[in-house]
Amino acid sequence: MISMNGFSQEPPEIIEAELAATRKVLESHYYVLGGQVTEFESEWANYCGIEHAVGVANGLDALEIILRSVGIGPGDQVITTPMTAVATVLAILRSGATPVLADIDPATGLLDPESVQRCVTDQTRALILVHVYGQVRNMADWVTLSDSLGIALIEDCAQSHGAREGDTSCGSFGVAGAFSFYPTKNLGAIGDAGAIITKNADIAEQARMLRNYGQTNRYEHKVVGMNSRLDELQAALLTVRLGYLDSFTQRRQEIAARYLVEISNPCVRLLATPLNASEHVYHLFVVTTDYREQLQEHLRVAGVETLIHYPISADHQEALAGIATDPQGLPHAHKHAKTCLSLPCQPQLTDSEVAAVIAAVNSFVPQGS
Ligand SMILES: *Cc1c(COP(=O)(O)O)cnc(C)c1O
Repeated sequence: MISMNGFSQEPPEIIEAELAATRKVLESHYYVLGGQVTEFESEWANYCGIEHAVGVANGLDALEIILRSVGIGPGDQVITTPMTAVATVLAILRSGATPVLADIDPATGLLDPESVQRCVTDQTRALILVHVYGQVRNMADWVTLSDSLGIALIEDCAQSHGAREGDTSCGSFGVAGAFSFYPTKNLGAIGDAGAIITKNADIAEQARMLRNYGQTNRYEHKVVGMNSRLDELQAALLTVRLGYLDSFTQRRQEIAARYLVEISNPCVRLLATPLNASEHVYHLFVVTTDYREQLQEHLRVAGVETLIHYPISADHQEALAGIATDPQGLPHAHKHAKTCLSLPCQPQLTDSEVAAVIAAVNSFVPQGS
């Protein structure tokens, strides 16, 4: 099977480096928020070209901590997208604020600025932009829009590690960026992990407090915090894996470039291509089709695994029943949820596997149409 994740095909030298890093942590006898965490935070901040990185337990917590660090809570509204991992919406709810869902641009899957504007009320305090599938686009426009509305721009970078527009890395356009290092992300730990990046020293300080019980000095608690500490083992493993991120990203972009040129089935639509290669790190390569079930089955028979990101728009989740949306509804998100399909685009794919995916997609003919 040509699979969506290539852990078992990673070069053996990575495992060797991970084992060495693991041994170092075990022999240090220091396990949580220590030197390895500090080192990874500084490497991650450096990689993103920003002043502060704060390691936390996962991406959901990173978003909740950012919201709380900028003072968002009960009575406030936060606009975001329905076409995201549900964690984005859960973070807003956990901060005590009220999520409001805007519609997407069907050409990219990213938020539609006009729909966002229809969602604004006097209670709107922030916008969480999700760089879904790995693409970062039109950031100057989003900064201008959020500045003119007087709301905080927060970036959910869980799918876009290293994506840049111009010289600026995602996560540094707004007040702060949230990363997940869940194993399947472009930079993944060997378990759960996450980080916040920001140029704002106050937000970084608040985040450091909130992740560790709201503690300033030992046993002194200034705010009601949480336990979202990053452990030494994950931090050490992330530092090792960060050394491979650029080459893995390049491979994802190479595979995507072939798909964009060579997929030529009229029943399969490609999303808009990025203006510059660096704007898309292809966490996922997503196509849309009116024959999704048939195409997915055709690919399965041809030995190609696919997944759907996401089959259920957030407003249709049972857990989120009654959630507020654009007053004109979310027709593009609903259609996307019914038609999108993610093809394998992970860095361990061989050239012949990429060719096999392309051949399988191009040989698809819908039945009964
Ligand atoms: C994975 C993901 C998250 C959540 O990250 P976790 O580490 O699983 O909590 C949030 N937003 C998006 C867009 C994601 O893809």
